[in-house]
Amino acid sequence: AAKILDGKAIAQKVRDEVREGVARFAAAHGRPPGLEVVLVGEDPASVTHTRSKERMSNEVGIRGRLRALPAATTEAELLACVAELDADDTVDGILVQLPLPAHIRAHAVLDAIDPAKDVDGLHPMNAGLLAMGRPGAIAPCTPVGCMRLLAEAGVELGGARAVVVGRSNLVGRPMAQLLLARHATVAIAHTRTRDLKALCREADVLVAAAGKAKLIGGDWIKEGATVIDVGMNRDDAGKLVGDVDFDAARERAAWITPVPGGVGPMTIASLLATTLRAAEARVAKR
Ligand code: NAD
Repeated sequence: AAKILDGKAIAQKVRDEVREGVARFAAAHGRPPGLEVVLVGEDPASVTHTRSKERMSNEVGIRGRLRALPAATTEAELLACVAELDADDTVDGILVQLPLPAHIRAHAVLDAIDPAKDVDGLHPMNAGLLAMGRPGAIAPCTPVGCMRLLAEAGVELGGARAVVVGRSNLVGRPMAQLLLARHATVAIAHTRTRDLKALCREADVLVAAAGKAKLIGGDWIKEGATVIDVGMNRDDAGKLVGDVDFDAARERAAWITPVPGGVGPMTIASLLATTLRAAEARVAKR
């Protein structure tokens, strides 16, 4: 049976590293790194997510602040808020929680964030730098967390066959770019992919980020593969499950992430690490 990649324990390790880095940064620069999380409206899941981002950043010594704006906030008002945070030198990271209300164009807002502060990695400048394999790109937190899990498992990526299921800008695409940067041979699958099963069976590294419970069957897993399950779905009983049939996949994989307790805890930890990195890069540029 596969070894379990314990996201909870590794996320704790990442947070401990960040706490040390934050203390060093604060001592050197007379202020902690600053993260501003902007929430528009009261979507319950988004409220929960933004509150935990604020709380967990403060726990490692980052000055994390949540700006909760009313659902009726206009695009112009939100752009003014972003412009203010862009101009504030004590702010190192800006995260606008998605989804935004329908009357606001998300791309207009994301494009307005200073790329150096874009800790969600959704600015076209960062996506472009990442796609070109150039240094200095800020990659989205979830794929960064997945890469850390692969590193902790000691998985050799050079020349490995990697399959990423999903092509979103937040997960699938940047995940594929990060794997490519580490010299894996990467295929990206999506809803139009033919014979997903055959493709998955070739994968030494399989990253599932489709958002479909039990999309990936146990017999789709190559013997000895590493399986990273990003999916977060509710099954019929309301239980949180991934995209992979965990119990069956476990019999064939060498490493596998559980859901919950795998990729999930890594995402916020990676956001904290990214915020520290952004702060360090910003002061280094001056
Ligand atoms: P998304 O809906 O934006 O993208 C899903 C992608 O999967 C699409 O590109 C689509 O083409 C592909 N896809 C969907 N169904 C498919 C199928 N049947 N076969 C092949 N491809 C298929 O979602 P997202 O934001 O990329 O998130 C993906 C999943 O990861 C969701 O379950 C989400 O909740 C989860 N997620 C988890 C974390 C975390 O921290 N653990 C973070 C972000 C997202």
